[in-house]
Amino acid sequence: MNQTDTPTITILGTGYVGLTTAALFAAAGMKTYVVDPNQSRLDAVREGRSFFFEEGLDPLVAHTVKNGTLIPTSSYAESIPRSQIVFSAVGTPDNPDGSSNLTYLFAAAEEAAAHLQPSSIYVQKSTVPVGTGAKVKQLFAKKGINATYASNPEFLRESTALLDSLWFDRIVVGGDDEMAIERVMAVYRHVRQNREAIAAIAGLVAPEETATEQYIATNLESAELIKVSANAFLALKISFANSIAKLADQTGADINEVMNAVGADARIGRAFLNAGRGYGGGCFPKDVSGLISSAQEHGIDLQIMKAAQAVNEAMPTYIISKIKALLHTNLADKKITVLGLAFKAGTSDARRSAGVRLANLLVEAGADVHAYDPKAIDEAKRELHHAVKIHEDLRQSTSAADVVLVATKWEEFLRLDLKELASQMRSKGFVDCENAFARQAVESAGLTYIGIGR
Ligand code: NAD
Repeated sequence: MNQTDTPTITILGTGYVGLTTAALFAAAGMKTYVVDPNQSRLDAVREGRSFFFEEGLDPLVAHTVKNGTLIPTSSYAESIPRSQIVFSAVGTPDNPDGSSNLTYLFAAAEEAAAHLQPSSIYVQKSTVPVGTGAKVKQLFAKKGINATYASNPEFLRESTALLDSLWFDRIVVGGDDEMAIERVMAVYRHVRQNREAIAAIAGLVAPEETATEQYIATNLESAELIKVSANAFLALKISFANSIAKLADQTGADINEVMNAVGADARIGRAFLNAGRGYGGGCFPKDVSGLISSAQEHGIDLQIMKAAQAVNEAMPTYIISKIKALLHTNLADKKITVLGLAFKAGTSDARRSAGVRLANLLVEAGADVHAYDPKAIDEAKRELHHAVKIHEDLRQSTSAADVVLVATKWEEFLRLDLKELASQMRSKGFVDCENAFARQAVESAGLTYIGIGR
């Protein structure tokens, strides 16, 4: 793609995915509008920053807003008619029954339809149940809109979102118009060509491992199913590791040793075979339940995913039963500190966070619960029980604690001075919810170690 045929792009949704993607497109020199009804998210962009913490994103947003390539707006009329490609990255949360809530997605498509040009390409980036694209196409057809529709699922991981997108494993684009697919692929090729310069602006260093960088064109339904299947498989690996961890707990095996060796088999792979407090976040829980529900609609009973979901759901309770066994008592009036409220280290996102769930369950069990997180306190407050005492300072949060739970692998926690921690605490329980610590190091500091499957 040369500068003259660089497309102007609109991204609907200035969330974790929409803003990250928009900042990358803009940093590669493509004029990119980000559209959102949420004024506070747009205001943050106007001020040259992101509404959430993601390594490298603030400098990219600041740079691209300043040079005029990233344009925040709430107006479809301002952005869509000027754009050759429109990406939809609005939220697709779950309904109370677990099915995917596509209200935002169809509202965005409906509003976009009023402004799309006949030659535009409408690209679905949000995670959707298979068959959603066909329904959006029907909606466009009913309105007499000729825009081409494609699916381009997103695979970035929060906390490494920019590097994942610059050094990617695969770009998947599905649809039935080869030229449109190629034009969407070209956007990513253009980002790839400029990636060293983009990484430099973001202050990020290229990863050491080689990325596989495949461009995969598929039909529409395959692209939709690829995304949910990929997340479902990763969730399965986690729940598999957690199931085996319970057996390890009963038998003296160490789940880390087990999975290191199991995963050394190239057919299996080590990634995600991690036992611990289970998965959370804005994607896995709802993507798994959405897949179960959409399969059900087609008469398929995805028992395997129901099992993975049940195992995951039970992990926080399993951890709490271990704490009760350690203290030989119920938890009334025990001071328990949860370190880590983000759903994982490296992000401020606390949606469906295991740390938050553990804190809330501990409150229900009668404990005096304290919590600390370096980045996620504000976002965690939305789901955290009001009785949880939040601290801005790690040391203060653990003072006179009976038990400390490390729920995420923030560097600050991994570098804890364990001897000092032990000297501050009343009882000496240390729960390693992500199996991130060496048991011996914890015990030689005078703490009692509880891992998951170790
Ligand atoms: P999010 O909730 O952070 O962002 C969605 C944004 O869409 C919000 O800012 C909301 O105000 C906006 N919005 C709602 N209706 C709109 C409309 N009609 N027009 C314009 N904007 C509108 O969600 P997210 O985490 O960025 O996820 C977006 C999609 O990407 C979801 O389908 C999700 O499953 C998928 N996804 C997320 C991740 C991730 O790590 N967060 C990774 C891969 C895929």
